[in-house]
Amino acid sequence: MADDVSSTVDSSTAHPARRYNYWLGGKDNFAADRESADAIEAVFPHIRTAAVENRRFLQRAVRVLAEQHGIRQFLDIGTGLPTADNTHQVAQRIDPASRVVYVDNDPLVLTHARALLTSAPEGRTAYISADLENPESILANPDLAATLDLSRPVAVMLIAVLHFVHDDKQADEAIATLLGALPPGSFLALTHATADFLPPEIAAALTSGQVRGTGSFEGRSGSQITRLLDDNGLELLEPGLTVVSEWRPDPGVTPPPAEHVSVYGAVARKP
Ligand code: SAH
Repeated sequence: MADDVSSTVDSSTAHPARRYNYWLGGKDNFAADRESADAIEAVFPHIRTAAVENRRFLQRAVRVLAEQHGIRQFLDIGTGLPTADNTHQVAQRIDPASRVVYVDNDPLVLTHARALLTSAPEGRTAYISADLENPESILANPDLAATLDLSRPVAVMLIAVLHFVHDDKQADEAIATLLGALPPGSFLALTHATADFLPPEIAAALTSGQVRGTGSFEGRSGSQITRLLDDNGLELLEPGLTVVSEWRPDPGVTPPPAEHVSVYGAVARKP
């Protein structure tokens, strides 16, 4: 599988998956990714804290969904490069029969997909190469139906991916289409970059030409993100939309200041 796609992996431009891998301390990245990552870090020096806190939110959200809401099926879109404790590993520690479908649009993630297909024998994982901007193609993929039972609740994970969908209408439609295909009692776990806590000069620099270009992201405000959830009739779990590090922090953990994280997170239920 890896061989026939490796020729489509473009190492000359920065890709979000590889840039994020670099911030997390991984080795699966190229010079162009590191350059783009360093340019962002020069403007926002806390980006590595933000990446780590975002990843921790993913893990806490999966645990809460599995332990407190009985979720056994996950659709993880914008998977990123495999790292420690991917969604299926967290979910299958709670119930080995948990099923996870991973989706990403970066061919490099596909070349690493084998590391995501390490399901416990009782469960199942699949990887789909598709784009969040075309949610119908995700839902229509036969590997989705072969892995998840869409008559039973599913948690859609949009973790640090919706901010790559620049158009608000398209972001709203992605949520509407995905959650629309799922039964009541399904969930959306979302994290999203924001400039709400940043001094205006840093926020302005992040949206300037210096760090734009391939893989640039769209910070949204808390009220924009709340609207995306409300418009789709979703009910937020406590404590609502917060900075990811303040969403049900592990006991004894003091979250870093919001301005060092600058990523919102929420988990919401389809009534
Ligand atoms: N969800 C992981 C990884 C986040 S990095 C985590 O939070 O730890 C963002 C990922 O989203 C990258 O792997 C990137 O390739 C993917 N991505 C960006 N835009 C996308 C799109 N339109 N459709 C699918 N995946 C996308």
